[in-house]
Amino acid sequence: MVATKNILTLPGDGIGPEVMGEVRRVMAWMEQAGVVSFEIEEDLIGGCSIDAYGEPLRSETIEKAKRADAVLLGAVGGPKWDDVDFEIRPEAGLLAIRKELGLFANLRPAIVFDALADASSLKHEVVSGLDILIVRELTGGIYFGEPRGVEDMPGGGKRGFNTLLYTTPEVDRIARVGFELALKRDKRLCSIDKANVLESTRMWREEVVRVARDYPDVDLSHMLVDNAAMQLVRAPKQFDVIVTTNMFGDILSDAASMATGSLGMLPSASLGALDAEGNRNALYEPVHGTAPDIAGQGKANPLAMLLSLAMMLRYSFDMGEDADRLEKAVENVLNSGLRTGDIMSDVGKLVGTVDMGDAVIAELSRM
Ligand code: NAD
Repeated sequence: MVATKNILTLPGDGIGPEVMGEVRRVMAWMEQAGVVSFEIEEDLIGGCSIDAYGEPLRSETIEKAKRADAVLLGAVGGPKWDDVDFEIRPEAGLLAIRKELGLFANLRPAIVFDALADASSLKHEVVSGLDILIVRELTGGIYFGEPRGVEDMPGGGKRGFNTLLYTTPEVDRIARVGFELALKRDKRLCSIDKANVLESTRMWREEVVRVARDYPDVDLSHMLVDNAAMQLVRAPKQFDVIVTTNMFGDILSDAASMATGSLGMLPSASLGALDAEGNRNALYEPVHGTAPDIAGQGKANPLAMLLSLAMMLRYSFDMGEDADRLEKAVENVLNSGLRTGDIMSDVGKLVGTVDMGDAVIAELSRM
């Protein structure tokens, strides 16, 4: 008997339902192949939830997400909801689910498939074979620190301020995620900070060094964020796993993602804390948005969503071999020359969302 995994799918808006459709078909294939059994619930988030219920995320949906073993999310938002109240905008649903599930660790792999190495804005030899993982702290740091605000100054003018604050438990838990992931990869972790200027990140560095004592097999290094930004575009392959603060991770992960060339290829995972039984809340989603310009036309690239499914298999269910197989199927399909519009170049055959899903399933069946 294969284990049953309870999954909540939240397709969202725009191309979200289209790319989620392909994930559902791959999940059905996996069930048929006897790999795993899924119990799937589906619900609304974002604009479609505003249309149906007047709010981007209902408390019922949050409860379902908490009960699920993992959540798969498409994308939210679009021009239709640009003018709704700020508090109930589609993105508020996204922020709320991350907060409610306590998703403090954001994992963004930047992997360059050989067949797409020319799509990068960096030179082929700089990115070919790139496989790095950025672990960004997601619920602390300067985006959440208090006090914050804008004040009038007595003599005129204003004073704007935010607080970069981290505590020992916050650094401890994100550092451990970084070390654990490094153990499963090339056993190298680079912690990125600004310890030469910011006291809070000097403390970050000290805490990471303390946690490192529990991971003697991982080679830990430190880098200042300005140098890291330079190194990510100069020689990104020098990194294995990067762990960093909320704001530095926000910026560096976007820079690293451009090494891969396409938004339609980038998956992500957001993880919560481990409970006493070793379980954690987790949400997997592509990095891209709802692509209103191509929504409903069957043109969306489903690969970022499918690679998010692979991350779910690896990080929530310890099904590393099945994740590897799915990623390999994606790679083989790209090597065969199939391309959706976003990754199309001079060579290759242009296909739509469903054709791309078909090709991945055919490849999985062949492997
Ligand atoms: P976007 O990622 O939706 O699109 C940017 C460009 O990339 C577009 O040209 C789009 O066609 C293309 N693209 C993106 N994903 C693609 C895919 N899978 N296949 C093929 N092409 C793809 O970003 P945007 O245009 O800035 O935002 C559109 C909407 O999405 C906005 O409402 C925004 O708020 C929302 N958004 C949501 C998320 C999320 O849900 N996580 C993230 C980013 C943007």
